[in-house]
Amino acid sequence: MTKKIAIIGAGITGSVIARCAADIGINVDIFEKRNHLAGNCYDIEEFNSFTHKYGPHLFHTGNKKVVDFIKRFSQFIPYIHKVHAFVDGQFIPIPYNLKSLEFTHPSYLAKRISQKLIDEFGFGNQVSIYKLLDSADLDIKNLGDFVYKKIFFGYSSKQWGVKDPLSINKNVLDRVPVRINRNTNYFLDQYQFLPKNGYTNMLKNIINSEKINIKVGYNLKLPIDKLSSTNTQIEINGKKYDHLFYTGKVDELFSYCKGKLEYRSLNFVEDEFCFSSKRPSLALNYPENFDFTRIVDYSFIGIALGRNVDKSRIVTEYPGRYDENNPNFNEAFYPLFTKEAQEKYKLYEKLANSLSNTLTVCGRLGKYKYFDMDDAIGAALNLVSKNHIFN
Ligand code: UDP
Repeated sequence: MTKKIAIIGAGITGSVIARCAADIGINVDIFEKRNHLAGNCYDIEEFNSFTHKYGPHLFHTGNKKVVDFIKRFSQFIPYIHKVHAFVDGQFIPIPYNLKSLEFTHPSYLAKRISQKLIDEFGFGNQVSIYKLLDSADLDIKNLGDFVYKKIFFGYSSKQWGVKDPLSINKNVLDRVPVRINRNTNYFLDQYQFLPKNGYTNMLKNIINSEKINIKVGYNLKLPIDKLSSTNTQIEINGKKYDHLFYTGKVDELFSYCKGKLEYRSLNFVEDEFCFSSKRPSLALNYPENFDFTRIVDYSFIGIALGRNVDKSRIVTEYPGRYDENNPNFNEAFYPLFTKEAQEKYKLYEKLANSLSNTLTVCGRLGKYKYFDMDDAIGAALNLVSKNHIFN
């Protein structure tokens, strides 16, 4: 008999799983509670460019398997992401590098520190801010204090809602290293590009199959209480499925029985302005002084597409604590990386694992992980290669 699966969520993870299932003849029903496809990658075409409605999504990866998969569903344009931070009245390139050092320090000092950085870490390498803070050399340690204070402290305090960003998981700040060269590209991955017709179009193509049914704007109440480790099927809305792939919030799935998990959210405030070549990059970070973290100018995508752009969609990002009752912060974007939150997540993970014959919890929210797009695609492909339903 033809297998049938249900998927909750039409973001990257849900869509990739749906496509892999459809490719081998499995019938798929996707239920998406938002009124659009593509999850957090959702974008719209405006002002001759694409606006990413849930924050900038710039594809980058070193994973060839992921690239081979998505190349089936879109054409791509090269796009090298650049970021600047507003520090002491000027925009400096981020990740902080030897060029940024020349902006922030007098030249005699910049020269001396550059040489010390090269001697200690080797030219061309990139190091964690924690390494600079730990250095025995006073100049390097002072630079570490400066970069931490000017780039990381304010931004991370706002983004994560903490007084001491050094208390959060080290992997978070390590996403943005310090470079011992003058390379101002935000990412160093081998593959960096954007879908020519936008992410929503790409995700639409991924799930475009007669084997896949999708319902958007459909907030499904899951019969989680009826799941047991001995079931071989799960019944949803009177229909039986051989497996359920759930990509939503894992605490919500289990009715918060182990307590609520914390997430960080963002409020996106949109403006439109005339295009200005004075804005140096798509993303401008504001670590200090303001209550927002980032201003994003989406006209850079239109420019990369070779289009004429005379207006810009400018979006200012204000971080806040996720709260389903607060309309400004009712989308969960980032899991919180405190030890306590991770421990609570482990309890839900254990629960989910005990039901693995009919349930797989996956994706950024399901796994409570800081997945980039390529991580989400890679994890979904990996999951499909191992899950019994695909064999
Ligand atoms: N970060 C920072 N200052 C910056 C850029 C990043 O403190 O100018 C820290 C901050 O904690 C942020 C993390 O590094 O959450 C990861 O940055 P990334 O650009 O990867 O964030 P994303 O684009 O995923 O929100």
